[in-house]
Amino acid sequence: MENINLIINAVYIISVILFIVGLKLLGHPASARKGNFLSAIGMLVAILATLLNERIISYELIIVSIVVGSMIGVVIAKKVEMTSMPEMVSLLNGVGGLASLMVALALLLNNSQLSTYLILIALLTSLIGSITFSGSIVAWAKLSGSIPRVISSGSTVFKGQAFVNIFLLVCIVLLTTVLTLWPESLNLISVFVVLCLVLGVMLVLPIGGADMPVVISLLNSYSGIAACAAGFAVFNNLLIVAGALVGASGIILTSIMCKAMNRSLSNVLFSGFTNPTDKTFEIEGEVTPMSPEDAFYLLEAAQSVLVIPGYGMAVAQAQHAMKELQALLERNAAEVVYGIHPVAGRMPGHMNVLLAEADVSYEILLEMDEVNARMEGFDVAIVIGANDVVNPAARDIKGSPIFGMPIINADLAKNVFILKRSMSSGFAGVDNPLFFKPNARMLFGDAKTTINGIIKQFSD
Ligand code: NDP
Repeated sequence: MENINLIINAVYIISVILFIVGLKLLGHPASARKGNFLSAIGMLVAILATLLNERIISYELIIVSIVVGSMIGVVIAKKVEMTSMPEMVSLLNGVGGLASLMVALALLLNNSQLSTYLILIALLTSLIGSITFSGSIVAWAKLSGSIPRVISSGSTVFKGQAFVNIFLLVCIVLLTTVLTLWPESLNLISVFVVLCLVLGVMLVLPIGGADMPVVISLLNSYSGIAACAAGFAVFNNLLIVAGALVGASGIILTSIMCKAMNRSLSNVLFSGFTNPTDKTFEIEGEVTPMSPEDAFYLLEAAQSVLVIPGYGMAVAQAQHAMKELQALLERNAAEVVYGIHPVAGRMPGHMNVLLAEADVSYEILLEMDEVNARMEGFDVAIVIGANDVVNPAARDIKGSPIFGMPIINADLAKNVFILKRSMSSGFAGVDNPLFFKPNARMLFGDAKTTINGIIKQFSD
């Protein structure tokens, strides 16, 4: 038994090293695939080592679960569209929270002689696991619009919401005390779990619109913290370390995204209660539509072109066409660079992944600050299906819901081409004064079709 535990823990150390190296490699698009692969190997090694544990009761159940789980995972991963990644991440976070909740419940309900320490840890795991689970389901519903009548994608606020949250929290603290001091009252655990699940729903309901990416990465962090707590509950060192890694990286990502949107975390979490905003502001100017042929004439003369991709590029799958247009522009001696906003698209790194898929070199993917510093020098800025991340209202209009969010200042380029299908707003639901600027031209239609139209002009 002693020897087996030693072997298991030694293998766990190898897994942890693989996780940490994997995380490091995930930090750059060029090495991200390798990082993902190494982390997956780390997880496989960890699972195999855990199977050596002599406390395992049923290998049959474990094997059936692994086979069924893997099959579902493969099918979902193959089927999911790039544009639905955030929904999938939400569901994965939720399932992570649910797994930790199950571990804690199994511990609480199957052992009558638990120490106070273990009861407390198991209750903490149940609390974080439940909040992660129900919060992630709400986040998923908001992002996918699957239950539109019940959950809108915006923030849902009602009178007395703060009071309900405080009431829930007080009940949870009271129940934790009762369950810890009088372990025989463990039948109250179901009430405890229901209250925690409701709290998870209540915490995510007021968050909506452009704040969703932050809440998803925060829930990702919660799922790690829940796993870490579960690790303490079942004395599993690997679960503690892996959970801590997920928890910490989720918090770091959350903080990066808050910075990218110039918001504090508390402002994001509680803005539904405290941040009344005005979506109805007057926009001056006229919209000027343009054909791909007109766009071609300006692009043919351009020396420097900035491409700003957004969610619409993912929808249109226009990245390959854009790569083709990039090659034509470069052959025409123009410099082409891409300006990537940290929250463009629907998940962190969304645009980098799409452009990597089209073989666009990482060297010409520039960050927001880099392109903003030289914006006046670009002859043409081509905005492909981006809206919120180039919305000057965030910079200029104080009452705007996105005021303060740093943007790519496309309106300061000499000419701006905006490729989208209509005048409709972006994810945050805010009108965009960029479309009305005198240097802006609208190229209405599906982005891929429009770019192919411009390419055709080049070849003609
Ligand atoms: P937006 O959602 O603001 O705008 C996307 C635009 O794409 C729409 O205005 C739409 O206009 C256009 N579009 C859709 N389909 C097509 C198509 N086939 N061809 C051409 N255009 C199309 O995207 P941004 O990338 O600018 O901003 C991202 C937003 O999403 C931010 O508010 C961000 O906070 C939020 N978010 C980001 C996440 C992340 O992690 N990156 C996660 C979740 C949300 P039209 O309908 O007229 O075509």
